[in-house]
Amino acid sequence: MARRDLSDHFADLIRNFGPIPLAQYMAEANAHYYSARDPLGAAGDFITAPEISQMFGEMIGGWLADTRARAVAAGLPDASAAAYVELGPGRGTLARDALRVLGMTGGVPRVHLVEGSPALRGAQGDLLAGAQFHDDVSTLPEDRPLLVVANEFFDALPIRQLVRTADGWREMTVALADDRFVPAPGDKPMDAAVPAHLRDSAEGTVVETCPAASAIMRELSERVARQGGAILAIDYGHLAPRTGSTFQAVARHERADPFAAPGTADLTAHVDFAALGEAGQAGGLTVTGMSGQGAFLMALGIGQRAGALARANPSLAGDVLEALKRLVDPDQMGDLFKVIALRSPAWPEGAGFAAAETA
Ligand code: SAH
Repeated sequence: MARRDLSDHFADLIRNFGPIPLAQYMAEANAHYYSARDPLGAAGDFITAPEISQMFGEMIGGWLADTRARAVAAGLPDASAAAYVELGPGRGTLARDALRVLGMTGGVPRVHLVEGSPALRGAQGDLLAGAQFHDDVSTLPEDRPLLVVANEFFDALPIRQLVRTADGWREMTVALADDRFVPAPGDKPMDAAVPAHLRDSAEGTVVETCPAASAIMRELSERVARQGGAILAIDYGHLAPRTGSTFQAVARHERADPFAAPGTADLTAHVDFAALGEAGQAGGLTVTGMSGQGAFLMALGIGQRAGALARANPSLAGDVLEALKRLVDPDQMGDLFKVIALRSPAWPEGAGFAAAETA
């Protein structure tokens, strides 16, 4: 279905059956958006941490290698056979850089990629020979521990919004006004779906949840609890729960109107890390820690790595330091982006959170 047809399809649906849930709009728009293109890089719509510098994937690889080595040392021999699993691997850049480090420190693991986009599967396959693809987490291997990574994956999953109106709580839907898509509260009471402590919030308050993120985290966590392993998720979002809409669109490196042209811009929302942690615990995992991306990468030694890269390539030193700043500075990605690590209760605690914030 072409992009023009997606707008037509939504418009037909809304005219015939009434407004559609925001989650449905976001899910279908992003499935279209990602299916046919590579949105990453200067010529695309946005840039992610692994595309900024190889140092990002190397730090993640170091964290995974250390986690694996600690588990082997703790008497869990099957840890050495753990598979590398990545959710939404983009161009495969993070995996390539992380696997290089894993390969130098105990062996290259089998690679399993959960990726919905045929276009991006092509790019990932070019970079990661032998990787196996999965439509969702249900088909991941069951016979070994899993080392799971997700960078900017959960922010692309469909959110549900509940909004407090003068008549009580309603689900946010997408309606048509003069042939344009607009957000509009639905007509069914949704008060019972709102946590009790939020029900008396002021008119206009929005409670955002991501049922898909919680469901995927729960299912993965049950696997990791049973099979062993750890999960590392990085995304932009907040560590403590909040209210308010964070639904947004980015196209050509600029904020865009998420309702203007569905399927042509990346639709995202802030990730609720507290909810990810709860889903992980409900699935049987231990939360090792939560932190800002900057503090996490610095604890893993990205500063030293940048110094070594700069010394080895003096002509690139400026670029390396620029990339370091982008990844860790509090006014760049360092604070806005957060990290959560979870592990099987049988596995030892991983690195990177000693001096980190937890709220
Ligand atoms: N992790 C990469 C790419 C981030 S973009 C990086 O950091 O550069 C989001 C990624 O998630 C893309 O690979 C996209 O195709 C994938 N994705 C989005 N929604 C998905 C879904 N529901 N199922 C599987 N993959 C999805």
